[in-house]
Amino acid sequence: MAVPISQMFTVSSYVIAQKLKGVKRYPLVLMLEPIFRCNLACAGCGKIQYPDHVLDRRLTPEQCWAAADECGAPIVSIPGGEPLIHPEMPEIVRGLVERKKYVYLCTNAILLERKIEEYQPSKYLTFSIHMDGLRDEHDLAVCRDGVYDVAVKAIKTALKKGFRVTTNTTLFDDANPDRVRKFFDEMMGLGVEGMMISPGYSYDKAPDQNSFLKRDRTRELFSKLLSNRKRTWQFNQSPLFLEFLMGKRDYECTPWGNPTYNVFGWQKPCYLLQDGYVSDFSTLLNETDWEKYGTGRNDKCKDCMVHCGYEASAVEATFSSWSGFTGTVKATLFPNAT
Ligand code: SF4
Ligand code: SF4
Repeated sequence: MAVPISQMFTVSSYVIAQKLKGVKRYPLVLMLEPIFRCNLACAGCGKIQYPDHVLDRRLTPEQCWAAADECGAPIVSIPGGEPLIHPEMPEIVRGLVERKKYVYLCTNAILLERKIEEYQPSKYLTFSIHMDGLRDEHDLAVCRDGVYDVAVKAIKTALKKGFRVTTNTTLFDDANPDRVRKFFDEMMGLGVEGMMISPGYSYDKAPDQNSFLKRDRTRELFSKLLSNRKRTWQFNQSPLFLEFLMGKRDYECTPWGNPTYNVFGWQKPCYLLQDGYVSDFSTLLNETDWEKYGTGRNDKCKDCMVHCGYEASAVEATFSSWSGFTGTVKATLFPNAT
């Protein structure tokens, strides 16, 4: 089982409670960005191109906890920059775990072995390791040789110490399906709990603008990757979202499902686009013109099929109808059925 039962139960109860209360827009995963600075400079990254005075800014533990309390999402994902650079990250994580948030601490793992003693294993804490493919592909994606081996070593150490470990992988136009399937074998062979995969979003600011996937190509690639899926592969993601990536389902984006908080405040409308910031979560939820966003409504959303826009849509679909629920069960138990 990729995701522990307790986490599934927490998320399911939370979604059902929102639906019983008649809440139309609710957050599922808080994307908390306490720092933009990173110790890598990947070609597809849209987060590290800020000037130094922004890269030097950090959220305090109190700001992080307040954002988690205000938002109320059961899951908190802490993406990059590189969170392990933040000197107060262990304290931030401790406070979130005390709040019973399921924390995904996303890291390129370069510092993980050095810092791991500062964290305690918990069912609420997962190290989500950035791995963009087998050794050659990963080192090319992160623009530095040797990072794959460092990350694999760190994964082994974290698992040995009893931490939950997943991988997160962003795929671009040059991905070779056979090599990616081999990569899935290799990651599961290391003993990780599950894998998360997503097509890269075409950030305006990313240095490499030629490798982002268009929608048709995303569907073609993910069909090749996820058809005839091996039983050993576990994905730490909604099974309906994986079917969406394969082109078997279509969803509208629900960007409020993964709201983003960072050193500028609450980011409108989503983790990927920057259409301004507001100082509190309820203003974000109630005063953003959500109708302006999503595929077919905004040119910047044209090719987006990224988890932070569509995974919450897939989870919503699971709980919105009997067919959504049975579809989820079928996609979980028989992923190769159709
Ligand atoms: S490791 Fe992540 S945050 Fe750092 S440069 Fe690469 S993509 Fe950006
Ligand atoms: S489709 Fe949704 S998640 Fe993607 S860029 Fe647009 S608003 Fe953001």
